[in-house]
Amino acid sequence: MKKVVKFGGSSLASAEQFRKVGEIIKADPDRVYVVPSAPGKRHSKDTKVTDMLYKTYELAKEGKDFGKQINDIKARYNEIIEGLGLGLDLSKEFETIEKNFREKAGPDYAASRGEYLNGIIMANYLGYEFIDSATVVRFDNNGDFDSETTNRLMTKKLEKTPKAVVPGFYGAYADGKIKTFSRGGSDITGSIVSRAIRADVYENWTDVSGFLVADPRIIDKPPYIETITYTELRELAYMGASVLHEDAIFPVRKEGIPINIRNTNKPEDPGTWIVESTAKKSKYVITGIAGKKGFCCVNVVKDQMNSEVGFVRRVLQAFEDQNISIEHVPSGIDTMTVFVQQDEFIDKEQAVVSEIHRLAHPDMLEIESDLALVAVVGRGMRATRGTAGRIFSALAHASVNVRMIDQGSSELNIIIGVETRDFEKAIAAIYDIFVTTQV
Ligand code: ASP
Repeated sequence: MKKVVKFGGSSLASAEQFRKVGEIIKADPDRVYVVPSAPGKRHSKDTKVTDMLYKTYELAKEGKDFGKQINDIKARYNEIIEGLGLGLDLSKEFETIEKNFREKAGPDYAASRGEYLNGIIMANYLGYEFIDSATVVRFDNNGDFDSETTNRLMTKKLEKTPKAVVPGFYGAYADGKIKTFSRGGSDITGSIVSRAIRADVYENWTDVSGFLVADPRIIDKPPYIETITYTELRELAYMGASVLHEDAIFPVRKEGIPINIRNTNKPEDPGTWIVESTAKKSKYVITGIAGKKGFCCVNVVKDQMNSEVGFVRRVLQAFEDQNISIEHVPSGIDTMTVFVQQDEFIDKEQAVVSEIHRLAHPDMLEIESDLALVAVVGRGMRATRGTAGRIFSALAHASVNVRMIDQGSSELNIIIGVETRDFEKAIAAIYDIFVTTQV
C-alpha cells in the first residue's frame, strides 16, 4: 500500500505539532509521500506564516525595509528546528529569499516560501528526500494548472523516489517562475501527488475529525459524516461547508482514489472518507446540510412565456452581458426567477433590468433581496420516498416560508430558498427531522 499524507498549517505550527505529525507518519510504513503546508497559527491570535510572507513582500515591493518582518519569519522556523533538535541551518535559504524579495520576485514566490521551507524541515526531520514543487507542478502560460504535464513530471520524479516530501501550494511556469494555487491550495498538491503514484489513499490531516453533518455555529455538536461521495462533497462545499480546497478532488477523482480527512490532534478518530461511489448507506437519509446567505432574485413575468422560443435565453443574456453568474433558475409557465449573489448583482442591477426589458419585453419584473439558500444533500434521498415532503413539513412547522425549491436532476440534493432571517431556523428544522430524530 502507498499513502500520501498532507498536513495543514495548524498541524505544523510548532515543534510540538511537528512531533505529532512525525509519530503519525512513523506509525504506518505506507505513509511514504508527505505534503506539508506552511506553519499556521499556534493559537487564535497568532499569524500564519503565509500571511506574514505576503505582508513582508508588500514592504519589499515598495522598496521599504523588511528586516524585522523577515526576522520574525525566521524565528518561526528556528523555533521549530530547535524544538525538534535538528542540526539544520536555513540562513543560506533566507539570504536567497531576501535577495529575491529585493529583486521583486512577486507575491506568489513570497508566499510559496512558507511551504518550501517547511518542506525542507520536514524532509530533514523524517529522513525523506525533499522535492521542490517548482520542478514537478506546472502552470501554463495563462496561469492555469497544467494537470497532464504535472502528472508526467511528478510520476517520473516519484518513480525514482520511494519516500519524499513535496511541499504544497505552489508550482512553476515552464520558465521556472513560481506560481501558487489559491489559498488553501496545499490540498490540491496532496491530490496531485496521490494521482501520480496511484495512492491507495490520500490522507488529509487537519485540526478537525472530518466533515460535520451541519454547521456547528448553527447546530450544537453535529455528528461527523463517515462517508461522503465526491459529488455530495461538491454540493456541500459549494454551499459553504469548507474543510478541503474545492479543487482538491479533481486529480484523485481521475484515479478513483479515496480521501480520508483526519485529525492530527486526535489520530484515533476515523475521520471522513470521501469516495467516488459507495454501497455504504449514510447513517441518516441525508448526508449533510449547508447553506449560504446573500442572494437576491429577479422575477420575470410574461404571459405565454412558455410558447415564446428563446425567451429564457434572452433574459439570461442580460446577466451574461454584465458578467454576473447565475445560481438557480426555477421557472413556471409564465414566470421565471433568476437567483444571483447579491453583492455581485447590486451595483449592476439597473443595467440588468433595462437590458431584460430591451431584450425580452416582459410584462412585469421584480427584484427581491436578502434571500438565503439551504442545500440538503444525500445519496440516500434517491432511494427514500417522502424526503422532500418531510423537509417541507418540517419547515412549515418551524414557520419558515419557502421561497424556492430546486431538486437537482441527480436527486442528490434539494435546494431551498428562504428569507435570510429564516436561514438558521430552516437548517435547525431540517437537521432535527433527519438527525435528531434519527430517521
Ligand atoms: N499556506 C497556504 C495558505 O495559507 C496554503 C495552504 O495552507 O494550503 O493558504
